[in-house]
Amino acid sequence: MSTTAIQKPVINPYEAALENFDLAADALELDENVRAMIKYPERILSVSVPVRMDGGNIVRFEGYRVQHSTSRGPSKGGIRFHPNVTLDEVKALATWMTWKCAVVNIPFGGAKGGVTCNPKRMSMGELERLTRRYASAILPMIGPERDIPAPDVYTTPQIMAWIMDTFSMNMGYPVMGVVTGKPISLGGSLGRNEATGRGCYYTVLSSCRHLNIPVKGARVAVQGFGNAGSLAANLLHTAEAPVIAASDSTAAIYNRHGLDIPALIQYKERTGSLRGFPEAETISPEELLAMDCEILIPAALENAITEENASAVGARIVAEAANGPVTPEADRILDRKGVFLIPDILCNAGGVTVSYFEWVQDENHLFWDEQDVNSRLEKVMTRAFNDVLKIHLERKASMRLAANMLGISRVADANRIRGLYP
Ligand code: NAD
Repeated sequence: MSTTAIQKPVINPYEAALENFDLAADALELDENVRAMIKYPERILSVSVPVRMDGGNIVRFEGYRVQHSTSRGPSKGGIRFHPNVTLDEVKALATWMTWKCAVVNIPFGGAKGGVTCNPKRMSMGELERLTRRYASAILPMIGPERDIPAPDVYTTPQIMAWIMDTFSMNMGYPVMGVVTGKPISLGGSLGRNEATGRGCYYTVLSSCRHLNIPVKGARVAVQGFGNAGSLAANLLHTAEAPVIAASDSTAAIYNRHGLDIPALIQYKERTGSLRGFPEAETISPEELLAMDCEILIPAALENAITEENASAVGARIVAEAANGPVTPEADRILDRKGVFLIPDILCNAGGVTVSYFEWVQDENHLFWDEQDVNSRLEKVMTRAFNDVLKIHLERKASMRLAANMLGISRVADANRIRGLYP
C-alpha cells in the first residue's frame, strides 16, 4: 500500500459542521428557535443497493441521500461513490451545501448523496447497474423541483446521464433538470466541468488582490489532482503561477520550476495516476501539505489538514477546493499562523453555481455560450468573495466564520419569513 493510500477519517466531519454552525450562530446571536429550525437535516434516506456483479454474484452496497434544507429553494448537492462514505459524512456535506448555496446567493438548499463502494474496482457495467439501482432507491426524493444531484468524488457526467435516464424512464418523459453535471449532449452546461476549479481560481485571484500577492510567480501546491484540483491548477498555470507540487491518491510529485500542467492532465487521463510523471520528483503527501509556497489547494477529501500537520503548512493562502479539508482545530492553528483561508463554502462554490446555471438552462430549454457562463460565474464568485471579506474585516472574524455567518444568516432570514408550518 502506498503512503498516500486513503485513510479512514478520524475526525467526524458532521461534528465539525455542527461545531462551525454553533460558532457562527453565536457570532450572529441567532435566536434558539431559529437554530432549532435550520441546524439539522430535514430528511435522511438510507438505502440498500444490491448489484449483480459481472461474475453473476450479488453484492449489497449501502447508499444515502440527505436533504439538509429546502428553506431557500429545492435542495442541491452531489453524489459521492467512495469506500469511506458514511452517513455522517453525507450529513456534513449536505449541511455545507446549504450554507454554500446561500453564500453565493443562489435559490437552492443543501443536499448530498453517497454510496459506500470502490468504483475503481468496478467494471462500467457494474457501475451502471449500481448507479441505476441507487437512483431508483432515492427516486421519491429527487426531481427538478425537489432535490437535484450532481457529480462529486468519483462520479462523472456519464453517471449523471444514467441517473437522468433512470428518472426519466420512471416518469415516462425526459427530465433534463433532475441532475446537473450532465454531458453537454444531454442538456449539460458549457463550463460546468471546469466550474469548481474556475470558481476556486477566481477566489484565489481575489485573495491575491486583497493580500497584494502578484499571481504571476506565486507558487502553488495542489493536493488531489481530480476535477476540482486539476482545473484550478490549469487556470493558475495559465496565469503564470507555477504549480510546483501535485498529488492524487497514488503519488505526490514536485518540480521547483513548476509542473507542466496540461501535460500532467493528459498523463493522468492516460495512465489514471500521477505516478511516474517525467520531469518531477516524488515527495511524500506530508511534504506537499508543508510545501513552502504562496497557495496551497487541498482538493481531495475531508480532514487533510488537522491539528497534527497544520503548524507545518508553509503557504500564505489555503484555498479549500475540497469540502471540509481543514478541521476546526487546524483552523485555529492556521488562523494563529496568519494563513489566509478561503473556506470551502466559498472557494468551491463555482460548481454549484454553474449547476444552477445548468438547471436554469434546462428548465428554459435555452442554452448559453461558454463565455456567458464563465462571466456570470466570475460575477457571482467575486461578489460572494467580497461579501465574505467585508464581514471578515468588519467583524474581525476568520474567513471561515465570516462565510458561515453570511450563509447561515441568509438561511435564517428565509426561515423567519416563511414561518413554521403548521
Ligand atoms: P475527483 O474524483 O475528480 O478527484 C478527487 C481526486 O482526489 C482524485 O485525483 C484522487 O486521486 C484524489 N485523492 C483522493 N484521496 C487522496 C489523498 N488522500 N491524497 C491526495 N489525493 C487524493 O473529485 P472532485 O470532484 O475533484 O472532488 C474533490 C473535492 O472537491 C471533494 O471534496 C468534493 O466534495 C469537492 N467538490 C467538488 C465539486 C465538483 O464539482 N466536482 C464541487 C464542489 C466541491
